[in-house]
Amino acid sequence: MPPIVGIDLGTTNSLVAYMKDGAPVCIPDERGRTLVPSVISVGEGGLELVGDLARGRRITAHDRTVFSVKRFMGRSLEDVRDELHLLPFGVRERGGLLQIRLLDREFTPQELSAFILRELKRRAEKHLGEEVGPAVITVPAYFNDAQRQATKAAGLIAGLKVLRIVNEPTAAALAYGLSNRDRGVVAVYDFGGGTFDISILRITDGVFHVLSTNGDTHLGGDDIDQALMDRLLPGVPEALRADACLLQALRQACERAKCDLSSAGEARVVVSMPGRAEIDLVVTRRQLEGVMRPVVERTRTACLAALKDAGLSASDVDEVLLVGGSTRIPMVRSLVAETFGCEPRCELDPDEVVALGAAVQADILAGKTRDMLLLDVTPLSLGIEGFGGVMNVLVPRNSTIPASVKEAFTTAADNQTAVVVHVLQGERELAAENRSLARFELPVDPLPSGLARVEVEFLIDADGILNVTARDLRTGRGQSVEVIPSHGLTEDEILGMVREGIEHGREDMEMRWLVEARTEADIVLNAARKAVTQARAAGVPEERLTRFTEQIGELARVRDGTDHGAIRGALKRFNAETEDLAAKIMDAAVKSALTGKSLSEA
Ligand code: AMP
Repeated sequence: MPPIVGIDLGTTNSLVAYMKDGAPVCIPDERGRTLVPSVISVGEGGLELVGDLARGRRITAHDRTVFSVKRFMGRSLEDVRDELHLLPFGVRERGGLLQIRLLDREFTPQELSAFILRELKRRAEKHLGEEVGPAVITVPAYFNDAQRQATKAAGLIAGLKVLRIVNEPTAAALAYGLSNRDRGVVAVYDFGGGTFDISILRITDGVFHVLSTNGDTHLGGDDIDQALMDRLLPGVPEALRADACLLQALRQACERAKCDLSSAGEARVVVSMPGRAEIDLVVTRRQLEGVMRPVVERTRTACLAALKDAGLSASDVDEVLLVGGSTRIPMVRSLVAETFGCEPRCELDPDEVVALGAAVQADILAGKTRDMLLLDVTPLSLGIEGFGGVMNVLVPRNSTIPASVKEAFTTAADNQTAVVVHVLQGERELAAENRSLARFELPVDPLPSGLARVEVEFLIDADGILNVTARDLRTGRGQSVEVIPSHGLTEDEILGMVREGIEHGREDMEMRWLVEARTEADIVLNAARKAVTQARAAGVPEERLTRFTEQIGELARVRDGTDHGAIRGALKRFNAETEDLAAKIMDAAVKSALTGKSLSEA
């Protein structure tokens, strides 16, 4: 069996790990470094550079060197519009996929990520001395279907078979071996170079459950570097401040000083560009802490929001795990300890912990560790459009996945030859207000309304990918779709959709009640119109039939109004006033049935 590797495909750095003699280890390069900078640079002769080599070209070839490609995975041009002005290269959309233009070539984010994955694969193969194919790749817990699919696609392009996409916080918990605990609440505080994520997990009997996530996709060590740079710039001669190369070099020097200050009280910021400039400044840890405080405080706000969403307080958290290079900063550790009221765990290298956990997950999949099951949650409700355009939720928001839900539906009109299954995502009561994920038709046998039975099944796999199947229970005929939305939702959009659901809750409910009352009235009216003939056959006098037709007209009139209360009232009255007729029709039907029975018995 080929080795299964675990990969952390990060925004700033990526790593590959595997299980060696029962313990996960990250695979180093020839120089012993486990981190591969997530940077790709395209050369003149079509040669692509990845990792450290590419990072070195940040200054000299900035228009064809890509950083943070993870931010573009599974997103549309609309999603990333706000970030485009920061990029020194062109980005456009073609066939629903982003295209990043580097020199005279275009690459999708998947292709660019595949360069990084190929480099990791190559590194693993060299180290292990055999071909590597199957892999587990981690993604942030808030990644949606499209972003997870894009990550899978990148793996495929790189020649990997992606067995599982695992949430980064879950991987961190696995790396810390928390699977053996019976139960407990774990907070995973992940503060990297460009992003901040906080996830609250519950472990019950070896089962991992993501209770909530929060964070900021634009908050990280880079902001600290920037804050330090802003502080130092006034000390740099004005003439040098317009030099882009110098500023870039200063930024790197600030980052180095920041890292040094995690273990020293003082550090130097040195930029030496022969013939151009010489900068040599001293920064103290206290000064750094002064400028970085606002950045770090923002992570506290997100932690408190995540706790609130999980319905927990800080004292409910049993363990806090640190992930990401920026958690090496002493001030960050103190803030975490203060926020959660306990010392965070930091025995494992915060850069490696996610990749190590991915290797543990790979081992579970290889069948070597059996006592764990990994569960996550859906960020938004999933459902289908029902009669009158309402949203019928099958899988509520925050449901644990993998999940499987079945529900039976019927037809609204007589002799319908097909039903439309319209798959929706969102928190609004009306289908039109939610996000449409897929739509397909299932042919059904023509029958009177309400008799056809169509079963709809939603299956969400452990990677968060949704498979919808509809089956006509009479004929057994079925149809299914796998939902791969062409464009992903950003974390902000998900939050926006949840918020909208709450804001429009009242008016949405009013609308839903109206739609439901009208649908019920339609069913009753349909049956009543058919019953006129049956009533006549049952011997109901013409005069009563005329009144019955008037009663039908009255119900139809109220049904067209917009007051759901009035429609419900009219329905109640109609049912009470036509009870006599219903009884007569029923009597006649029973009589004819009994006659039939006695005949057949004779
Ligand atoms: P990650 O995205 O997890 O790879 O984290 C990268 C970020 O961690 C960058 O902003 C680094 O500058 C930062 N970082 C790495 N080591 C240290 C350190 N010793 N002290 C402070 N920040 C660090």
